[in-house]
Amino acid sequence: MSDASKIDDGGAVIVLVRADDPEKKPLLYACGKCGQIQSPRIYACKDDVAHETARRAAEDCYNCRTHNNCQHCGKECEKHWLACDDCRRKKRFEDSKEVPLSSIDDECFGFDSGNFYHSPEDAADDGEDWVYASTFHRFSIDGERLEESILDDHHEDASTADFVGWDALWDAIEAFNKAQTQGSYDEDRARRARVSHLRDRNADALIAASKTGGPEHG
Ligand SMILES: [Zn+2]
Ligand SMILES: [Zn+2]
Repeated sequence: MSDASKIDDGGAVIVLVRADDPEKKPLLYACGKCGQIQSPRIYACKDDVAHETARRAAEDCYNCRTHNNCQHCGKECEKHWLACDDCRRKKRFEDSKEVPLSSIDDECFGFDSGNFYHSPEDAADDGEDWVYASTFHRFSIDGERLEESILDDHHEDASTADFVGWDALWDAIEAFNKAQTQGSYDEDRARRARVSHLRDRNADALIAASKTGGPEHG
């Protein structure tokens, strides 16, 4: 263990050196506020550059930071993010392609909330301007995965040819898979459809209904 002593560098950074080193050669750098240590050893570069980088990391202590700055626009953002909400939204927007609402299933995901909706109207009512399309995947048994899991713990040469009743099981799996109607929806972040006009339409309908003395039933 190295016996380190602290030298105030004049700034916020604490430079740690060996107490018995007459030259007081810097070994580690620490934040003057919280003491978080930065080691030059973690940087795979020339010694002087590594020391400079570690010193700067101690100066600009991540531990003491209350926020990050967005790497795109410089605005303050939450610490564990590199970009602000607006820039991240913009990126998601650019990364997805606008498709006609008629081309997607009713089931969709709010572009901003990520919430699941049974219809684009529901998403619009909830304040979403856009939705992500969904992809549906049914419940199914993956026969090949099943095969692997059966063979996994056995000798190398074991094969499905050794199974008794494998063909019958395979047929049953196929029948099972074909019979499934339920499953789940996944967000498809490549396709985005506009729904904001549905909200306006809903609002218009409400206004029209209120003018005629109440919503129509039947
Ligand atoms: Zn700190
Ligand atoms: Zn930003």
